[in-house]
Amino acid sequence: MNANIAIDGPAGAGKSTIAKRLAARLGLLYVDTGAMYRALAVFFLRRGLERSDEEGISQAVADADVTIRYEDGSQQVYLNGENVTGLLRTEETGNMASASSAYGAVRARLLDLQRLLARESAVVMDGRDIGTVILPDALLKIYLTASVEERARRRIAELEAGGGSVDPDQIRRDIEERDRRDMNRAVAPLRQAEDAVLVDSSDMTIDEVVGTIAALYEERCRR
Ligand code: C5P
Repeated sequence: MNANIAIDGPAGAGKSTIAKRLAARLGLLYVDTGAMYRALAVFFLRRGLERSDEEGISQAVADADVTIRYEDGSQQVYLNGENVTGLLRTEETGNMASASSAYGAVRARLLDLQRLLARESAVVMDGRDIGTVILPDALLKIYLTASVEERARRRIAELEAGGGSVDPDQIRRDIEERDRRDMNRAVAPLRQAEDAVLVDSSDMTIDEVVGTIAALYEERCRR
């Protein structure tokens, strides 16, 4: 089995930034599972489905084929053959992804694909249920979190850097709402795996977080 790293945690904890850098440093493949849920969300929005329409979404998901390719080392997400990578990071897509990912049929659609990726190469995979459901045998599991205030601040900075207009109170409410949904859903809720290491990045720099996790991984590889 590959020596994989599973990183779970709430929205805005810095998982993708950290996972990407770790992958580059350790020579692993980075897999962003949130992007896969977001690609399905693009599909549901295009179909005009409501977030609350579990039945409609569960039926439609059979027509959505998500695949991952690596181009110049970066993950590209394809939805039914179309590269949708550039469409994934909007609030609308994020909110639909957060709601639709609670449905069992949506999770089942991505489970095999995620496990297959981790069998084919050693990966750093980030998401909500990687350590608990997708890769229970990962060599290292990290639960990466930060305070709501700090996560909202980072998200606002990201949106402002992208030139978007930002309502700080709305961003904060969205984060709290996403936490609530991710942690309370019946299927694969977000929680820290028993054998995961808790890393709170609120007062840590990116380099400190990457250094901490890389050291843990290297130590486990030597065991
Ligand atoms: O991590 P990101 O914000 O891109 O994920 C989008 C949404 O997909 C999250 O709000 C979460 O509800 C869902 N998700 C999930 N399981 C994963 C990854 C993401 O439920 N492994």
